[in-house]
Amino acid sequence: MRLVLKLGSSTVTRDGVLDAPRLIDYARALQSLRAAGHQVVVVSSGAVAAGRSVLRLARSESEVAAKQMLAAIGQPRLMALYGELFGHYGITVAQVLLTRADLDDRRRYLNARNTFEAMLGADVLPIVNENDTVATEEIRVGDNDQLSALVASLVDARLLLLMTDQAGLFDANPRTHPDARLIARIDEPEIPDAVWAAAGGGAGTLGTGGMLTKLKAAEIARRNGADVVIADGREPSRLAEIVAGKPIGTRFIAVAAPRDARSRYILTGLRDGVGVRVDAGAIDALRNGKSLLGVGVCAIDGDFDRGDTVAVHDAEGRMLARGIANYSASELRRIAGKRSTDVAAILGYDFGPEFIHRDDLVMW
Ligand code: GLU
Repeated sequence: MRLVLKLGSSTVTRDGVLDAPRLIDYARALQSLRAAGHQVVVVSSGAVAAGRSVLRLARSESEVAAKQMLAAIGQPRLMALYGELFGHYGITVAQVLLTRADLDDRRRYLNARNTFEAMLGADVLPIVNENDTVATEEIRVGDNDQLSALVASLVDARLLLLMTDQAGLFDANPRTHPDARLIARIDEPEIPDAVWAAAGGGAGTLGTGGMLTKLKAAEIARRNGADVVIADGREPSRLAEIVAGKPIGTRFIAVAAPRDARSRYILTGLRDGVGVRVDAGAIDALRNGKSLLGVGVCAIDGDFDRGDTVAVHDAEGRMLARGIANYSASELRRIAGKRSTDVAAILGYDFGPEFIHRDDLVMW
């Protein structure tokens, strides 16, 4: 099986310093998974934390440039440690630094995918992080939970493991509610509202780490045909049991069957707050496998160019589909709700009647 293992800062550091003994435990666990024929991609945080420990800074900085500097200092140290420790177990590691821009652009996406295939084919272990040093707000994924889901989709993984500092997802915050219970399994295609609420927000809320970004990651990965497990990162020795399907942590069952590569690309371009809302007629058309026309669009959120992937929501903001925009947001603002035959007169040109052609559309 192909799987993506996400290790958060709390897993790879101890008291603010990279935790070599724990990484050795992971090396051992990954060696046996690989020996059993599994292909693994690691997504690792810890660059900023490692940079901070080098400069002996005590607190976290909110300034973006300072964080980017810390990532620039810490990332090579993080990789050096992986290289050394995993090398003892015969594992060759490779660094992959990505931003959202690499995943949004079709050509760069395909390049990245080919590089992953080459590495996995050569039995190399890719270790991915966000390219924090250059990633400005507009092109960042922003957190490694969601980055790991995008990577899982890119490499068509069947399992995404999100390792954290809790036993899994609880029905309330276990730090403040001692009687909170672990949610062992989520089978429903829609993650229940109560679970979003327990994670600290609604599906549309902007999160910065914690359980909310893990739920968002689970949402992306399971729609692309992967099971997702949130489990305790302090127990690397249990990885093999998790991969074997033992009930450890919280498991989200894949919603969709594995998708073809192009559909995964379309579903991967998730950006909060960017998309369109459509009327009931358009929803019917989409459900019947038809294209989305400009006439069915009732609102446009955020900014996008022609060729970008955008979300299609119903009037209440529920996700229906994603697809490749045939008109930019500014063009669409002029032609939304208008008949296709009027488009050329309004814009002075047209790219055809569809805002999203059915061949470029993937139902959520
Ligand atoms: N890329 C950041 C780092 O390596 C971590 C981001 C995250 O953990 O979500 O320090």
